Amino acid sequence: MINLSKSEFVKSAPRKKDFLLDKPQVCFLGKSNVGKSSLINAICNNRKLVYVSKTPGHTKMLNYFLTDGRFYLVDAPGYGYFKDRSYDFETLMLDYFRSSGKCLKRAYLLLDVRRTITEDDFATMEILNQFGIAFTIVFTKADKLNQSMKAKAQNEIQKHLENFEVIMTSSTKKTGLDDLRRNISTALNSK
Ligand code: GDP
Repeated sequence: MINLSKSEFVKSAPRKKDFLLDKPQVCFLGKSNVGKSSLINAICNNRKLVYVSKTPGHTKMLNYFLTDGRFYLVDAPGYGYFKDRSYDFETLMLDYFRSSGKCLKRAYLLLDVRRTITEDDFATMEILNQFGIAFTIVFTKADKLNQSMKAKAQNEIQKHLENFEVIMTSSTKKTGLDDLRRNISTALNSK
């Protein structure tokens, strides 16, 4: 399995010319506040890893982390709450998906298990489908729900995406992290 503990920040990419396409990679997507930074830090066993990308100026860019010396984890900007019209999340992501070709092995779309799935989330799934990018739904903050509520959230997603792969995680309780790590390892090691 890939050693995600060996991850370090490499660079931020505000636009197409800055993308790193020399290594296999996976990317993490989700609404602002979904728990994306916490989850990346949790799977990498490094509470400070994503800190750098949360500093002002870095939040609207793709942030690249080199993992195990061979792969990139790509942290996409959180979507959903942009008031700043000068910034176009969609353009950046479309450029990325268009450019990444075979190096993007899988995307991880994070959804807060307590919230209903919104237009933004469906729009992101639609774009991933359009580009033929394989993706996994990762529910975050599972510690906030009891078993029956979790089942309800899973049913909700299955209604929209039949037989879809879903991973239930909690960064706080450190549950589901190995499932996600395994999934990432498999994706990155695929041809
Ligand atoms: P991001 O904006 O998607 O990067 O989200 P953050 O990782 O910064 O988390 C947003 C908020 O959710 C913070 O207050 C976190 O402490 C909280 N949070 C993140 N993950 C979890 C989790 O697994 N369980 C709980 N209970 N809270 C979480």
